[in-house]
Amino acid sequence: MGETKWWGWGAPGRRAPLGPSALEMLTALVGEPEPSPAVAVEDVRVPKAEPPPQELVRTVGAENVLTADVDRLRRAAGMSYPDLIRLRTGRIDAAPDAVVLPGDHEQVAAVLEACASEGVAVVPFGGGTSVVGGVDPARGRFGRLISLDLSRLRSVEVDRRSLTARLGPGLTGPDAERALGGAGVTLGHFPQSFEQATIGGFAATRSAGQASSGYGRFDELVTSVLLAAPAGELRTVEVPHSAAGPALRELVIGSEGAFGVITGVAVRVRPAPEARRYEAWMAPDFRFGTEIVRELAQGGSLPDVIRLSDREETRVSLAFSGAEGLARRGFDSYLRLRRRAEGCIVITGWEGDREAIARRRSLAARTLRAGGAVPLGARPGRAWYRGRFEGPYVRDELLDLSYMVETLETAHTWTRLGELYEAVRGAIRSALEAQGTPGLAFCHLSHAYRDGASLYFTFLAPRRAGEEIEQWRAVKRAASDAIVASGGTITHHHAVGRDHAPYMRAEVGDLGLETLRAVKERLDPAGIMNPGKLLG
Ligand SMILES: Cc1cc2nc3c(=O)[nH]c(=O)nc-3n(C[C@H](O)[C@H](O)[C@H](O)COP(=O)(O)OP(=O)(O)OC[C@H]3O[C@@H](n4cnc5c(N)ncnc54)[C@H](O)[C@@H]3O)c2cc1C
Repeated sequence: MGETKWWGWGAPGRRAPLGPSALEMLTALVGEPEPSPAVAVEDVRVPKAEPPPQELVRTVGAENVLTADVDRLRRAAGMSYPDLIRLRTGRIDAAPDAVVLPGDHEQVAAVLEACASEGVAVVPFGGGTSVVGGVDPARGRFGRLISLDLSRLRSVEVDRRSLTARLGPGLTGPDAERALGGAGVTLGHFPQSFEQATIGGFAATRSAGQASSGYGRFDELVTSVLLAAPAGELRTVEVPHSAAGPALRELVIGSEGAFGVITGVAVRVRPAPEARRYEAWMAPDFRFGTEIVRELAQGGSLPDVIRLSDREETRVSLAFSGAEGLARRGFDSYLRLRRRAEGCIVITGWEGDREAIARRRSLAARTLRAGGAVPLGARPGRAWYRGRFEGPYVRDELLDLSYMVETLETAHTWTRLGELYEAVRGAIRSALEAQGTPGLAFCHLSHAYRDGASLYFTFLAPRRAGEEIEQWRAVKRAASDAIVASGGTITHHHAVGRDHAPYMRAEVGDLGLETLRAVKERLDPAGIMNPGKLLG
């Protein structure tokens, strides 16, 4: 990935303007759009910096210590709605003092040693796509803070025979797939943030890609890790499985930079798929759709990608897909004839060799039909596949039009998924209404398992200019409280960061939190690693 927008997603010139049907829907259901572009970068005041310790310059070279305002600004925030509001409005109240770019594991270790002895906080920075405040430049008790940018750690080593690869943490999703593709293999990890997020970030946050049902979540792909911690090096053996006590690998995966820096991972890869088949279906409603996905998961016929939208998300997706005129009218009458005009869209995707796809697809199709879903064919499935990384570009357009838009996610067992869905949706709606900004709250089910699934919510409302963060916080708190009260997890894949840290006690209990804190104390005795994240 080359240069990206400093205030939003992707290459500076790349936009995704909303079509007439999307604008019409937003005007009718959320409110009139009002242009609200990002301020000019020259108008952003980045807080003054403390000079970085000379030892860091000696370790990585002066050219790898960046102190220009624009470089500090680019590592001052992640990609959540409040992050983007701070950037777009130029209200930057914290930034790293310097950006340090080590070139290998040894340099990372030396930087951490210098920071520990000088009392400098360290925020590991991968792609900066955290949506939970994971890369916030929070100083804790330290006067100085550096952003440790891992983009120079980009090694790739493929073991074609074992179907494993060793990957550097600074590779972005496309970097890694390009290199693996050259050896005829794939990781199959495609989160919506694929274009900018990194291998180290995937491991540090227990990321889940859109095809996780088929390829597995990132934590399931990792076989071993190398961690540079202030207290030393933690390396796990590169074997398929080990019964040698609790897995240290699991302590490192999901540690969000609070224990140290992941400087390498070994992962399972697969032969690149010979073919892909993506389709869409229309389920009668969310409850029936959920039952279909449960049966697919428990019957062993889950597609590699499965995604069920609720009615509101289906409506929004159709309006945003830009299907206009004749094509849209034909589509509507097809659905009316099959009594599915108000249904819930299901995306199914299979990857692999053609014969296996045909066999698996026919099994799944039987379950989908038995559950009352009607086929919409390959066209909308392929359209979803082509647009699967478009979400963040669309979000930038919505922010440009003064809308608040944010997502959050959770997971539960099949038995309690319906209750969780109603509780979170209700909490988001009530919180929006309580602030005088009613809007849309919609959801999809994805990442399905034998025992349950994850729910991914989006809310869209008119923005309260000048009070954007308070408005967002009220909705986020209501949704998080509803998740905890329903017994769901505070995060299925976005991780904890700063935003979810207050909910960790509810998630792991007092002793659980103390255990994790004890691990941090052993690996990072001075407490320099990513203050305020994961453990609060
Ligand atoms: C539009 C959008 C869509 C998204 N879609 C998905 C999705 O489909 N699935 C999903 O799982 N997530 C998704 N996310 C969340 C985010 O992309 C993931 O959390 C991703 O794994 C973070 O990777 P990153 O390289 O950007 O990490 P960063 O944002 O740079 O860092 C995330 C956290 O990990 C730490 N960290 C980063 N690198 C290292 C390292 N090498 N060692 C130790 N700590 C490190 C950071 O300090 C921080 O706490 C999405 C985000 C956005 C903005």
